[in-house]
Amino acid sequence: MDYAGRISKLASKLDDEGILAALITAPENIHYLTGAPFVRGSAGKLLLVWKEGHATLILTELDYEEAKDSVAGGLELIKTNLFERPLERLRSILPSSSKVGYEEGAMSAAMNDRIGANYVLVPLGGAIEKMREIKDKEEISMIEKAQSINDQAFEKALANFREGMTELEIAAELEYMIRRYGGEAYAFETIVASGPRGVYPHGMPSNRRPSGGESVVIDFGAKYGGYCSDMTRTVFFGEPKPELRKMYEAVRDAQEAAIEEVSIGVTGKELDDVARRVIGDHGYGKYFVHGLGHGVGIDIHEAPTVSASNPNPLSPGNVITIEPGVYVPGVGGVRIEDLLVVTEGGRRNLTKFSREIVVV
Ligand code: ZN
Ligand code: ZN
Repeated sequence: MDYAGRISKLASKLDDEGILAALITAPENIHYLTGAPFVRGSAGKLLLVWKEGHATLILTELDYEEAKDSVAGGLELIKTNLFERPLERLRSILPSSSKVGYEEGAMSAAMNDRIGANYVLVPLGGAIEKMREIKDKEEISMIEKAQSINDQAFEKALANFREGMTELEIAAELEYMIRRYGGEAYAFETIVASGPRGVYPHGMPSNRRPSGGESVVIDFGAKYGGYCSDMTRTVFFGEPKPELRKMYEAVRDAQEAAIEEVSIGVTGKELDDVARRVIGDHGYGKYFVHGLGHGVGIDIHEAPTVSASNPNPLSPGNVITIEPGVYVPGVGGVRIEDLLVVTEGGRRNLTKFSREIVVV
């Protein structure tokens, strides 16, 4: 990964605005800029990116060895002991009263108070998150690998699905296979929602046993190299009833129509409109209750969003999901989700698993 390039890009922005250094605390942003693993302890890590183009990571001895083995060369590492918080060390490194950039979303009010007393705080305005929207080749290859783990895991798990299994057992099969095929972690808590529970778009798996042609919405993701994948398939436990089949066709048609339109310059809103129109034509307009998709990267949900709230055109290197869904109370839910890269030529679908109806 081009960590040095990312650091120098941020540094030149700081230089332009007369900011001495940016103080980064969001673990996702620290990972993006340095390759450091995510914070697991409570003490946290602090990254300073200096306007001259170098960076300093302050961390406790608890995290030091792991970080030392993970971060890119050229990064200065400062180790504090268990009794000295990285924040306290900051004062001896950063001259007081200097202009310091900070992430609006990441800093707690308490931390803001403590730092604000010594420095002039300047919001970074989502500068790092904006950089993260455009993935480079290496990032795309990590996401592609994370998605290929999903495809393989789903195929293998599906072969073990049987009527009589609980939603929890379905999730367990899938999660075992994700690890088995190289997933380092789950990108988020696996969703398995069957029968009437299918109307919960974020339904956590329960002890319910789907049967009798019910739909089962399965939404899951793997992490690879710190990057997420995201995929949903809806399968049927038994031959689906005509209503569920109609819902499935509406969602599949909407997803295919929206995927066809993914290209440079199309906006998130325009894609959402395409899917919404198709689902409306099938008579299910009021049952499509969420946006069409979202960006995926180090975070499972990041910019750009693919919904009515995004009037901005897509760019090459954006990685997005296309995931229309229909949720009819008393009947069930259907959602199908693929992961795509926006390319010069339009799009590349990283999800290989078929979207034909699967009956367990
Ligand atoms: Zn998903
Ligand atoms: Zn998603």
